[in-house]
Amino acid sequence: MAQPPLPSIRRAAVLGAGVMGAQLAALAANAGLEVDLLDLSPELAAKGLERAVKRGAFFLPEFAARVHMGSLENLDCLAKTDWVIEAIVEEMGAKQALLARLDPWARPGLVFSTNTSGLGIGRMLEGRSELLARHFLGLHFFNPPRQMKLVELIPGPRTDPQVVADMGRFAREVLGKRVVECLDTPNFIANRLGVFALVEMLRRLEEGFGIAEVDAVSGVLLGRPRSATLRLCDLIGLDTLADVAGTARQLLPESACFALPGFVGEMLKRGLVGEKAKAGFYRKGEEGLQVLDLGSFNYVPLAPVGLGELEPALRLPALGDRLRALWASKVRLGMLARSHLQAVLDYAAEYAAQMAPDLEAIDQAMRWGFNWEAGPFELWDLLGLQAEPAPALIRQVRPVGRFYPPGQVYSLREGRHRDQPRREGLLEKGRVLLEAPGAALIEIGEGMGVLVLRGKLNVIDAQTLDLVRRSLDQPLRGLVLWGSGGLFSAGADLKHLAALSTAGDWQGLEVFLCAFQEAVMALRFAPFPVVAALRGLTLGGGCEFGISVGVRVAGAELRMGLVEARVGLLPGAGGCKEVVRRCGRDLAAIFPVLVEGRYSENAHQARQWGFLAGADPVLLDEEGVLGRALADAAALAARYTPPVPASLEVAGEPGLARCRAWLEKEAFSLGPHDRVVGEALARVLCGGGGPPRAAEEQELLDLEREEFHRLCRLPATQARIEHMLKTGKPLKN
Ligand code: NAD
Repeated sequence: MAQPPLPSIRRAAVLGAGVMGAQLAALAANAGLEVDLLDLSPELAAKGLERAVKRGAFFLPEFAARVHMGSLENLDCLAKTDWVIEAIVEEMGAKQALLARLDPWARPGLVFSTNTSGLGIGRMLEGRSELLARHFLGLHFFNPPRQMKLVELIPGPRTDPQVVADMGRFAREVLGKRVVECLDTPNFIANRLGVFALVEMLRRLEEGFGIAEVDAVSGVLLGRPRSATLRLCDLIGLDTLADVAGTARQLLPESACFALPGFVGEMLKRGLVGEKAKAGFYRKGEEGLQVLDLGSFNYVPLAPVGLGELEPALRLPALGDRLRALWASKVRLGMLARSHLQAVLDYAAEYAAQMAPDLEAIDQAMRWGFNWEAGPFELWDLLGLQAEPAPALIRQVRPVGRFYPPGQVYSLREGRHRDQPRREGLLEKGRVLLEAPGAALIEIGEGMGVLVLRGKLNVIDAQTLDLVRRSLDQPLRGLVLWGSGGLFSAGADLKHLAALSTAGDWQGLEVFLCAFQEAVMALRFAPFPVVAALRGLTLGGGCEFGISVGVRVAGAELRMGLVEARVGLLPGAGGCKEVVRRCGRDLAAIFPVLVEGRYSENAHQARQWGFLAGADPVLLDEEGVLGRALADAAALAARYTPPVPASLEVAGEPGLARCRAWLEKEAFSLGPHDRVVGEALARVLCGGGGPPRAAEEQELLDLEREEFHRLCRLPATQARIEHMLKTGKPLKN
């Protein structure tokens, strides 16, 4: 069924330019919106913006030009805005006073949202007009909002359901967020449960457990990030944490659960609030990491914590196995982790119905907001529902045995299990036409194919190249290139290259290089449109696939680059040729990028380097990339003619001289082998020397192979490849 059009939100006004406001302005600007950013004065707004630029909140610093500074004294900009984001201090009085001033601006089509971390939406709206209340909701973004995927959506008591639906879609499809709907109760879901878990563990420090001990058992073992408990407190900031706990104490009947131990007050007094103060529970000292002594408030060297019989459990890949090992353990720290987790699960079960209309929302909020591997009810399922004494919800669900039996989920609203709608991805519905270990061709209907790269880092090996060529013989109308598992591809199969060069099998190397070039050229001149759907790592040979085809659709956080220099090589499958096709004789900007083997920090930077074309769409919604690429391929298919080979402008000897001058200038920072690789790159990019001239694509492909062979034979390149395979890091030699 066709979706109705998204609400047209082109201009936003962010009120409050503090930590969150300025970053939310950047988020909106990154999505292409024009933004007004207002604070108590335009100077404060400008300061906030400057901080956001420094923090890297914008994809490109130039995007800050989309943000216009102003003062909260003058709200005239609201006349032309589509979305007002309130992000001032977390004080009910201040927020209510501001809303009273917003009331006269309310009109159909203008949405208001608050970024409150947990104050009541309904209370905020007391005394406000029906018109404002119908267009008002909570949209709670997490810090840093560019990276954090979760947005909690909290409808107010009078919010128009259409506004709720529209803003949910807008947050998902335009801002690329994962949206969880919450009920209007203090601290919503993620902060209520997340801060409960942090405070629960903070209090264990008063029972004699050490800071490092608590962190050793409350991270990976429980399916949480390595920041565990106290490192996470340092990241969030103890002051912010104390504020959220304070809201909970004020507004929730179970306020005792959020009482902070005495040492927290002392730490706040001393300014030991965490990373932003460069000192919290931990501190980076000159001799390594130090930990706070809660008796003297001095820092002492961090000593490793032994987990004894629990140690091997940390390495078990499945969370269920780790938890089973934990439940079987009798060691002191094991008991600590168990009783902590049980307290968190009991709390979640006790208060679930207050937090969300839907139990899944709670699990999702913890996975997306706190990066837990599993939410509390998924954890209850993993552990069985046997705990005693058990909260009422557990006793109720026990007869069925789990919250998520196959195909079902327990509904808090209905008080029973209901069917879970099957969310089948585009690919699961398709038909596999061709298969190799590292790739498959899937037909998803109406003649559209998806070539999926898969396996470890989706590396491209000889069998994949063969599958690519065979795919182009299929009777398709269009083809999309796609990588499974959140990335496109880390590049060519380096292990294979290493084996060939160790064995001195230069004939084998030539076969592999030719196959790669042929596959890439076949994609470029395919009889039907080929669209590369790119997200995450798109490196080396993966990048060559991406830049060789006619159209790309990219996820905004794309890491794209021709990084071959890192392993002492150069792009040998049309990458150099494609760079020349884009940059011609003007290599000044791209040459350093290639010699240093850099990859983009985001899709917009990749566009500046020429890897994406001006018309290639960039989506904040990574989950929408494949669908958009398929739609674009289908649209092109109706009137497609393949391109003709390009005539390339190569810079010849003068270009070579310019590249060499750069290598000379940078000699101090480049390693000796960087200069060797740089010289080889320059030769290919400049067409081998001679006068500036026009060259055929094939000439540059031949040059790529020639220089690739030369580099492969050098011990310094072989050392780089070996080091990369062993450590995953480039060798500086
Ligand atoms: P902040 O203190 O950094 O910024 C608040 C801004 O509001 C300041 O620039 C200040 O000048 C302005 N301001 C202060 N008093 C004002 C008033 N009376 N009227 C108008 N403006 C005033 O706060 P923040 O961390 O950016 O938080 C903003 C909102 O976002 C709060 O509701 C907070 O709970 C929420 N939030 C914060 C985080 C976080 O990690 N910091 C995360 C999620 C949500």
